[in-house]
Amino acid sequence: MVKTKEIKPDIRGLQLDELKALLVEAGEKPFRATQIFRWVHESAVQDWHEMKNIGEQTRHILNNIVKIEPLKIRQERISKDGTRKYLWELNDANLIETVLLSHSGDITRNRNTLCLSTQVGCAMACNFCATGTMGFSRNLGAGEILSQALDILRIRQKEDPGFKIHNLVYMGMGEPLLNLSAVLKSIRIFNSNEGQKIGIRRITVSTCGLVPQIDILAEEKLDIVLAISLHAPNNEMRDMIMPVNKQYPLEKLIPACQRYIEKTNRRITFEYALIKGMNDKEEHAQQLASLLQGLHANLNLIPINSHPNSKYKRPELVSVKYFSGLLKKKGLNVVIREEKGSDIEAACGQLAGKER
Ligand code: SAH
Repeated sequence: MVKTKEIKPDIRGLQLDELKALLVEAGEKPFRATQIFRWVHESAVQDWHEMKNIGEQTRHILNNIVKIEPLKIRQERISKDGTRKYLWELNDANLIETVLLSHSGDITRNRNTLCLSTQVGCAMACNFCATGTMGFSRNLGAGEILSQALDILRIRQKEDPGFKIHNLVYMGMGEPLLNLSAVLKSIRIFNSNEGQKIGIRRITVSTCGLVPQIDILAEEKLDIVLAISLHAPNNEMRDMIMPVNKQYPLEKLIPACQRYIEKTNRRITFEYALIKGMNDKEEHAQQLASLLQGLHANLNLIPINSHPNSKYKRPELVSVKYFSGLLKKKGLNVVIREEKGSDIEAACGQLAGKER
């Protein structure tokens, strides 16, 4: 049966077993599914005609039962430091952004990290975040999450045939845990042997701290990295900058993190954006250290990035280093995250999906 374009599933969002089932139903041999899946996820093809070992008849069947649709690129901006930001137009004209961070220098290091969006906009309304000021439009499908990586692979491989993606961070626009099924599906496909084979430990999912979803994710027992956007060392301050804290305050969030660690046996990374004159004082370092005590957590300190609607400023580097030193003395594993792509508004929390 020929399906109309609207109801045809996006082939990029299908796991191998799902693609197999559809093809078998259409009268194809199961092994074709593996060949086709490889074309889609390993070779990042954008058209049936690029599938060299697939005959005309099978291509015809494919065309009837699924769709393949690259994202429309609206803009590629390249930062002085090599960071690239991609603005995409989706099928329904919504805009999303993806950031590619490249660490040059040591070629033995795994160096390309992709920062993926999971929603159009975001409902979480963190008041320091550009996406948070946009409101929420809709979830992305698994295929749209995968397309961000597959289309960037194609673009980059034209210039650099050996280009690979080594790390994925679900830290673009949106709250990944509010689109958990599409996020998990995309992770499985990115990680699969017939796809990009991105190591599961090289995949980070970041959340503002939704307790029930953290518990659900723990049940998956995936070896991904879970990152929690903490940004404040006490409820009073967290309430002011992250509305989610009113629903899931620290006395609920921290025990959820403990449960996650027990279930998965994995460390958690906490993100703390330093805001000048607000959460960067000595007393805050002390509060933070006691909050995270015993969790064996990693802590990323990020001097906050400003965006046009933000009143927050970043502290000087010396105070960032002093803050970090206080926490290190308390035994915490602290990393100061370097700023990347701020000149093209690709730095943390600057993604707004607007055409500028
Ligand atoms: N919704 C998820 C993931 C998206 S944002 C989450 O909240 O974790 C990815 C990271 O960027 C989060 O840690 C977020 O808090 C942080 N962030 C947002 N705005 C920022 C800003 N202006 N400066 C620095 N980090 C920011």
